[in-house]
Amino acid sequence: MPSGRFNLFYLLAIISASCPSCVYSESGSESHGGIQWVLTAAEFDALCLQAYKTASDFLEPALSDRTWSALPGQTDAGDLPAAIILDVDETLVSNAAFQASYEHPFTNSKLDDWNDAGVAKAIPGAVAFTKLARESGVELFFVTNRPCEKKPGIDNPCPQQDVTVRDLNEAGIVADAEHVMMANERREWDREKVVRRNLIAQSHRVIMLIGDDLSDFIACTRSSPRAPCTDRATIESRDDMTYEHQHYWGAGWFILPNPMHGSWTTVK
Ligand SMILES: [Mg+2]
Repeated sequence: MPSGRFNLFYLLAIISASCPSCVYSESGSESHGGIQWVLTAAEFDALCLQAYKTASDFLEPALSDRTWSALPGQTDAGDLPAAIILDVDETLVSNAAFQASYEHPFTNSKLDDWNDAGVAKAIPGAVAFTKLARESGVELFFVTNRPCEKKPGIDNPCPQQDVTVRDLNEAGIVADAEHVMMANERREWDREKVVRRNLIAQSHRVIMLIGDDLSDFIACTRSSPRAPCTDRATIESRDDMTYEHQHYWGAGWFILPNPMHGSWTTVK
């Protein structure tokens, strides 16, 4: 990690100088109070540890009950190998320092360059959980909306996948390109993750979903719908979907706290 990347006082000085009292930026896409909370509050760490502890405790029952699936609609998967689908950013690795320091406006390439330049930091509890899951015989799939975008002078159509694999490994989470599924990696893999989840479900019994955004669990939660979704999500529709699936929360679905950014910031 380059010295200064996680210089907390420096980062907090930037936040305070740019927006001393606000909760949302002008774009409404980031919560500065949220960034400060993630960077400083022990409560953030405690919630992450709580999520991964609960997920660890759920491993054994999820594996032994072969009728169980964390994917709504997946049935008759008892003979398939077990898998867990995990998001990457703010689920396994933290980008809070980037959120505090990047120059507006946000672009994917700024985050990609930041990820490429530094050493990734794991979310509390993530390393131990992924290790335990692997030791229990579970295959891990990393479904991220980091997009594949061509870069000048590089033949690889998705250099961001290499960066993501490296970030996970730097953080202490074993990963390879085969299990890191990027947005736009295939034509049909838009930012709507349900398409990638359903593909994994063709070959694996999905015993858990782990993420920080409602879209890591439920389809059609975005204000800008992507195929196969057609309707624009609203604050009310997202609340309804959350309660319709309430039996999954803490029992197959495990959510990490992220008050900084996400699909919640653009719905009305
Ligand atoms: Mg995320």
